[in-house]
Amino acid sequence: MLNRRTLLAATAASVAASTLPGFAASSFAFDHGTFYVTIVSDGHLLLPTSFLAPDAPAAEREPLLKAAGQIGEQFNSPTNMTLIATGQDLILVDMGSGDRFMPTAGKLWENLKTTGIEKTKITKVIFTHGHPDHLWGVVDELDELVLPDATFFVASAEWDFWGGENATRGLPAERAGFVTGARRNYAAIKEKVKMIKAGDEIVAGLRVINTPGHTQGHISFELAGGDGLIVGGDVLTHPLISFEHPEWKPIADHVPDLAITTRRKLLDRLASDRSKFIGFHLPYPGVGTVDRKDSAYRFVPVT
Ligand SMILES: [Zn+2]
Repeated sequence: MLNRRTLLAATAASVAASTLPGFAASSFAFDHGTFYVTIVSDGHLLLPTSFLAPDAPAAEREPLLKAAGQIGEQFNSPTNMTLIATGQDLILVDMGSGDRFMPTAGKLWENLKTTGIEKTKITKVIFTHGHPDHLWGVVDELDELVLPDATFFVASAEWDFWGGENATRGLPAERAGFVTGARRNYAAIKEKVKMIKAGDEIVAGLRVINTPGHTQGHISFELAGGDGLIVGGDVLTHPLISFEHPEWKPIADHVPDLAITTRRKLLDRLASDRSKFIGFHLPYPGVGTVDRKDSAYRFVPVT
């Protein structure tokens, strides 16, 4: 039985280490209903600051970037991996970048060691979407599955998008290689993949919700218990911009207007029902709640 008791002993050691100067926190864990949730870093992405809402008025954009410490030409975007233990299952949300995307990312398995969680215990992998930092960790340097015994779950809309001709039509330059990579990794799991859609339950209390726009078939996962918890992938990616200006358009969104609608809907829900939210690219561990602020919102990280 994988639960808080069996995982906690090992986690406690890493939490202690993370409080020492010079040690980056490598894992953060908490109970949620019948689930035990651990957040492990996959490292970070190094991205052009110009990707962050270039459509926004400069006079409004600059102060927010400054407040987020993003004053250079590039910024670090954290990558938070979520592991969910429940009953006999250990479920990983997304698989990180692997070793072919960026040298600063693909650190999941290295960081997982400090938690005492063995990767061979992972029974299921559920994907929010098919971008490199979420999918390319499926295979190792020899193109072999890193988790050969796991079952994989992909939204059918996302699977169809990357496999279809719309994926390459009008592809922006910064996404060159994304299609090849998505197809390579999807091909590697095709014998072990299950297609999912909004409303499907992966295990008792863990349900798929539709959050399209960042990509055509982007999904999130809702965990029952307490006020609720949403593992939200890349719906809300910036700790200030996504919450204060959900109407601004980050370069990474495939369908910008749909992404705005999805952000607004999710933010309204989070501020109303007080669900916890886990953001893949929010500052580690990326867990928090959402408050209303003026006509928009504010992210309140857990402490
Ligand atoms: Zn991402």
